[in-house]
Amino acid sequence: MQDTYKHKGMRKQLIDQLRQKGITDERVLTAFEAIPRHFFLDLVFEQQAYSNVAFQIGAGQTISHPYTVAFQTSILELKRGEKILEIGTGSGFQTCILCSMGMKVFSIERQKELHIKAKGIIDHFRFTPKLFFGDGYEGKETYAPFDKILVTCGAPFIPEKLVKQLKVGGMMVIPVGDLDSQEMHRITKISDTEYKEEVFGNFSFVPMLEKTVR
Ligand code: SAH
Repeated sequence: MQDTYKHKGMRKQLIDQLRQKGITDERVLTAFEAIPRHFFLDLVFEQQAYSNVAFQIGAGQTISHPYTVAFQTSILELKRGEKILEIGTGSGFQTCILCSMGMKVFSIERQKELHIKAKGIIDHFRFTPKLFFGDGYEGKETYAPFDKILVTCGAPFIPEKLVKQLKVGGMMVIPVGDLDSQEMHRITKISDTEYKEEVFGNFSFVPMLEKTVR
């Protein structure tokens, strides 16, 4: 696939839209400029890759809206070099945004087909996150604790195991709700036993499901 001037132009327009919608973190916007979103979509969607819509990526799953990716990334308040666990690798787009911002990324996907496909495209960009096929509810104990955790599917509740795998001072961003709509939650771990919880508006994600699919 190619990244033409036309694609770059469409990307600039998307970035303008993200700014208008309130995304101000320049590092996030720079990452959106660096990562060609159309590489993550089927060819049929190529022309629309830079509009603010979600698309099918296979296995009944969708790549999140650009605004959603930008919003979740912004409220994580990332600092270069932080260790971040992503739940739901999906297309690999969000993973690449995080890698391009200089994060140490660990990402879990429960659908084998998507896990394999995402690996191919992430390799193309020469990023080296650790990708796992497995159940995100379990987190990744071996690599814990994490500075940040980003859940990119709609969870019915806040998984206790994930909160445990956060560093003190760390944050988790997670959409919580039912199948139709979820509220964006940000949990800050203040001490081993204390948390601060903030809520930021409604979103619509594919559900966070248990167990893996081959
Ligand atoms: N970050 C992705 C978003 C994909 S949609 C992107 O940028 O494209 C959410 C993804 O979460 C889907 O691929 C879905 O299969 C995955 N998912 C759902 N439940 C999961 C779970 N329990 N563990 C890991 N991944 C899960």
